[in-house]
Amino acid sequence: MSKIARRQFIQLSAVAAAGCLVRPGNEANAQDMPKIEESDPIAQSLKYVHDASSVDPAQRANPATDQDCANCALVQGADGDEWRPCQIFPGKLVNAKGWCSVWAPMA
Ligand code: SF4
Repeated sequence: MSKIARRQFIQLSAVAAAGCLVRPGNEANAQDMPKIEESDPIAQSLKYVHDASSVDPAQRANPATDQDCANCALVQGADGDEWRPCQIFPGKLVNAKGWCSVWAPMA
């Protein structure tokens, strides 16, 4: 192995190792994220509520029944968690029993 190839190998290994160390930290940060407030301007614009049962189904654009964050295609995190990350509200947690007008069925 030439000196340049060896140097590149060491640099790539360091980057890969750093990636392994950063990932668990991101998961820990997700658990520490704040819960979204219903008064949040973006939440209000998307009609987000913590309790999906408070939404009149007739007001929903998507006619599917039993809509809440836990069965939305855009929710992230672990099944069973009360508060979970959502692709629509980066950096905030939504209630698993919540709902917003972007709700989409899982594939
Ligand atoms: Fe809940 Fe889905 Fe709206 Fe996110 S996009 S707040 S998971 S209904």
